[in-house]
Amino acid sequence: MAVYLDHNASTPLDPTVLAAMRPYLGTRFGNASSLHRFGRSARNAIDAARGQVAALVGAAPQQVVFTSGGTESDGLALFGAAAGLAPGRLLVSAVEHSAVLEPARALARRGWELALLPVDRDCRLDLDALDAALAGSTVRLVSVMLANNETGVVQEIAAVADRVRAAGALLHVDAVQAAGKLPLDLGALGCHLLSLSAHKLYGPQGAGALVVDPMVALEPLVLGGGQEQGRRGGTEPVAALVGFGAATALAVAELPGRIAHLGALRARLEAGLRAHPGCTIVAAGAPRLPNTVQFALPGYDGGALQMALDRLGFAVATGSACHSGRPSHVLEAMGLAPEVARGVVRVSFGKDNRDQDVDSLLAALGSLRSALPVSAVSGGG
Ligand code: PLP
Repeated sequence: MAVYLDHNASTPLDPTVLAAMRPYLGTRFGNASSLHRFGRSARNAIDAARGQVAALVGAAPQQVVFTSGGTESDGLALFGAAAGLAPGRLLVSAVEHSAVLEPARALARRGWELALLPVDRDCRLDLDALDAALAGSTVRLVSVMLANNETGVVQEIAAVADRVRAAGALLHVDAVQAAGKLPLDLGALGCHLLSLSAHKLYGPQGAGALVVDPMVALEPLVLGGGQEQGRRGGTEPVAALVGFGAATALAVAELPGRIAHLGALRARLEAGLRAHPGCTIVAAGAPRLPNTVQFALPGYDGGALQMALDRLGFAVATGSACHSGRPSHVLEAMGLAPEVARGVVRVSFGKDNRDQDVDSLLAALGSLRSALPVSAVSGGG
């Protein structure tokens, strides 16, 4: 039996979510735009899902624009908001997911002036650097993620929002990793745009949402039949949206228990890792998602360790950019020493992991450490 420890990549579909979706994969197949009973049944299901997703973040249902996932939500936020603004300065944290960084770079090619905001050694956004950037020429759009997918570090979004609003700019927050792991409240966060993805919180792959402040003029990326109040064209994937709604309702109901459970698993793993001489726990000093631990063992290559663990039945992620073996842009932005960054591995727990999974992972790490000389675990990442 394999032990899955990569929930920041994707989560399994919760059985109750699958059960909620099932009718819409079968007899309830109607197009939500149709006016007959099949269409109305689909429309009602989507409306219910919209209410559930809105409730996750304390938004009004009409603020929710359904998309195909986090990547589309981020792209819609940046391109869609930028289209309604005169080109100006765009500030993006240096540790954003590529779903934000790539649209930001594309906007830079279209006349926007892009600046990457630095983070400290613990992946925390440098608020002084934000202040300095906002004091310069007119900033119109800012994007800072709530929780980082690699390190799990949680940014002080309310403090960011105060500054961005005072400067008269719009703030987008990628909350893809935070949803289902932290409480989310749009009012407390203070952002104008917020991205979510279903498959990070036990919902299906292929569904997400952008939550939009009504004062933002959002240009659609996908033009078509006027769905989503003209903000995202295309026939709605009813089953996926029903699953997304069910997953968010489950997250609301289970959140306190999940936070306590995941936090206990993280503490157990970190206590065990600290017993390994020279082990580095990345961003250990910063507030982090309860489920995420990034660590490096001295002399070990992250990619090789990942493969060795995979052979032993443990699914973890690395901190390297795939294929290149180079440290990820996140670890680079944090200034992590390259020899440490090369060895980084990420464990991201899920609600179904148990203490035994932690103990067997620690035992596997111990066996690898004693069985393999350092020279045997080098290679690409
Ligand atoms: N933003 C963050 C922080 C992510 O971790 C991910 C996925 O890993 C995405 C965006 C993209 O989401 P999706 O896989 O739903 O396109």
